[in-house]
Amino acid sequence: MKRVHIAPTLLDAQLAVDALSSLGIVTHIFNVNAAGALGEVPFMQAQPEIWVDNDTQEISAREALAGLRNALPRDEKKCLHCGEHNPGNFLSCWQCGRALPD
Ligand SMILES: [Zn+2]
Repeated sequence: MKRVHIAPTLLDAQLAVDALSSLGIVTHIFNVNAAGALGEVPFMQAQPEIWVDNDTQEISAREALAGLRNALPRDEKKCLHCGEHNPGNFLSCWQCGRALPD
């Protein structure tokens, strides 16, 4: 197995996994339980990781994920609660977990 992606949120991870599975690439998400405890564990340890089952699909998976990232908005959002900057595709603030403005 090879790790191909570290997602900012579980939602992001799920989108990536769905996109990969539509290409026939079997993946698993690790750290899912830790992501549920966000706020109680250090942020970097809580990020969901995407691993491909089949090592020979690592390159295909990385290319597919790169395409996916480019399709996402790159603007930043500023959290109204704590003022932290977040990537434009985040739904909630990585720092404080509050919902971000649209
Ligand atoms: Zn915040």
